[in-house]
Amino acid sequence: MNQSAVPDVSASASGLRRDLAEARHASLAREGGSPATLEVVPLGGVGEFGMNMMAVSWEDTTILIDAGVMFPEPDQLGVDLIIPDLTYVETRGDKVKALVLTHGHEDHIGAVPHVLPQFDGPVYGTAMTLALIEPKLEEHGIEAKDRLKTVKPRERVTIGPFTIEFLRVTHSMPDCVALAITTPVGIMVHTGDFKIDQTPIDGEHFDLHRFAELGAQGVLVLFADSTNIDRRGFTGPEIEVIDAFEELFTSTQGKLVVATFSSSVYRMQVLVDLAAQFDRKVAFVGRSIVQNAEIAQRLGYLRVPAGVQIRDSDVQNYASQDVLCVTTGSQGEPQAALPRIAINDHRFVKLGPDDTVVFSARAIPGNEKAIARVMSHVARRGADVITDSMKHVHVSGHGSEEELKLVLSLVRPRYFVPIHGEYRQLSQHARVAKRVMSRADERLQVLLAENGDIIQFDSRGARIADKAPAGRVLIDVTRVGEVGDEVLRDRRHLAGDGVIVAVVAIGRQTGTLVGEPEIVARGFVVAEDEAQSLFKDAAAVIAECIQASGVEERADQGLMTEKLRVELRRFFKKRSGRRPLVLPMLMEI
Ligand SMILES: [Zn+2]
Ligand SMILES: [Zn+2]
Repeated sequence: MNQSAVPDVSASASGLRRDLAEARHASLAREGGSPATLEVVPLGGVGEFGMNMMAVSWEDTTILIDAGVMFPEPDQLGVDLIIPDLTYVETRGDKVKALVLTHGHEDHIGAVPHVLPQFDGPVYGTAMTLALIEPKLEEHGIEAKDRLKTVKPRERVTIGPFTIEFLRVTHSMPDCVALAITTPVGIMVHTGDFKIDQTPIDGEHFDLHRFAELGAQGVLVLFADSTNIDRRGFTGPEIEVIDAFEELFTSTQGKLVVATFSSSVYRMQVLVDLAAQFDRKVAFVGRSIVQNAEIAQRLGYLRVPAGVQIRDSDVQNYASQDVLCVTTGSQGEPQAALPRIAINDHRFVKLGPDDTVVFSARAIPGNEKAIARVMSHVARRGADVITDSMKHVHVSGHGSEEELKLVLSLVRPRYFVPIHGEYRQLSQHARVAKRVMSRADERLQVLLAENGDIIQFDSRGARIADKAPAGRVLIDVTRVGEVGDEVLRDRRHLAGDGVIVAVVAIGRQTGTLVGEPEIVARGFVVAEDEAQSLFKDAAAVIAECIQASGVEERADQGLMTEKLRVELRRFFKKRSGRRPLVLPMLMEI
C-alpha cells in the first residue's frame, strides 16, 4: 500500500483515540500473511466539512463513494474550489471500477469532473443526482454521458465482489440515497447526508423499513452523517418553514426576494406553492438557480402551476406586490444575484422601500462578513431584511441527535465509523453511539477515523491499519471564455507561476483611487524591462476597473477585491500566458 507522511489534523487526545492507537499497534503486531481484507479509506469529509469521498476495496476491485468539493475560506484568495487529493485513487489504477453517488450536493458531486478521468467505469446515481452532473461535464468538455447509470431506491448493482443497494433517505433536496453494500465480510451501510423528514415535500419517505431489515439481518459497519450531532432533538421537516413564509407573503407590501441555495429544490417548491396561493409570479434569478429549477422541473421534482413562472427580465413588467424572486447569493458571493441586486447593479431586479429580502439558508461559517455586507446594502435600498434568527425561514437538511440515534438503533452495526464532520462532531457521535448501544452483548466498536486512514475489516475484526495519502488540492477555475480549458494546480504548480500582490489605496469618502497602485511579484518570472511595462499596464487596469465601478460597488471592499482579482487574472493570463495567484489588497485611506 502506498504510504506517505500526511500532516495530521491536530486532535485532542481523547480516550477513544488512545484505545484506537492501541488497537492499531496490536493489529500491526499481528500483521503478516494477511488474508483478504475489506479496506475502506475516507479521502475527504472525515475530520472536516465538505469534499466527501471514500474508497472501498476488496482485492482487485475498488469503488468510490461520492466525489465532492469544499468551498474555499475567504482568506484563500485565488482558489475557487478544493477537492480531495486523488493520489490514492491513482495508486489503485485500473482496479477502480465505479463511482457511486449518494446525492447531488456539491460537497458530494463537485469533484466528479476531476475524478472521471481517473478511471473507466460507470457512475451510479439517482436521476436528480446525475442530471446535476451533466452540465458540469459539459463545462469541462468531458464526454461521459454513456457512463452515467441511473438507479432507483431499492435497486441493486453488482460490481465485482460488491452488491450495492440504494436506500431512500430524506434530506434538503430530492432523490437522496444511502448505500447498503454487501461485501465478502458483511454488510456496510453508508448513510450519505440525511435527516428523517416524516412529512417530506415530495411524499417520498425515508426507507426506515429497509434500514430495520438490514439491522435485523446483521450489519458489519455503519458510516453515518455527523453534521448535526451537536443539535438536540429532531431537526424538523422541510414543511416547517411554511408558516413563516405565509406570514411574509401576507405582510410584504412590495416585492418578496428570497435567497437560498440553488440546490434547495424543496424550498423552491414551498415558495412556488405559496406564490400560486398568494397570486404572485415567481422569477428564478441567478444562473445556477435557473439551471437547477429547470432540471428539477424537467424531472418532475419541482412542480410549477401554469402561468406562475416568469423570466427575470419580466420582473419589471409586474407590480412589485405581484412578484416573488428566488435568488442565489445567500452566502454573500459577490457575483451572485442577490449581492448584485443589493447594490442596485442587477439588470432586471431592483429593490425598493416596500420590498422584503429573506435569507433562507444558514450562513456557512466564514461567510458571515460577506452576508452582513449584503444585508447592509439591502437596508440601504430601504427594503426589510429577514434572517432565520428572526423568523423560521430555514431548516437544516441534516439530522439532529435523536435522528442519528434512531438510525443507530435500527442498523445496530458491529462497527461504527462517524463521518461528515470535524473531529469534535465525530467524537461526539461516537459517544452518542456508545450510549445507544450500551448493552454488553451488543459490543459496538467505534472506529474514529480521519481522512486517509485505511480501515480494514476481515475475519479477525476491524482496525485502522495504515495511512493512505490524503489531503486537499486547490483548484483555480479561470473560466474567462475558455470553457474546458481548466487549470488544475496544487501549491507546487502555483509556485511555478508565482504570486502578484496589488496594493490599492482607495479614498474612504470618495471611493476613488489614491496614488498609484503598487504591484509586487514573487516567483512570477518575466524579463526585467518587460516587467516594468507589464506592471504599469496592470496599474492602469486597476485604475480603469475602479473608475468603471459604481459608487456603492467601490464602497464594498469584498466586491471590489473580487472584481480586481478577476480583471488582473485575465490581464496577466493574456499578457504573460501565465496564471499567477493574484491577491488584490484594498486599503481605505
Ligand atoms: Zn447534502
Ligand atoms: Zn453533504
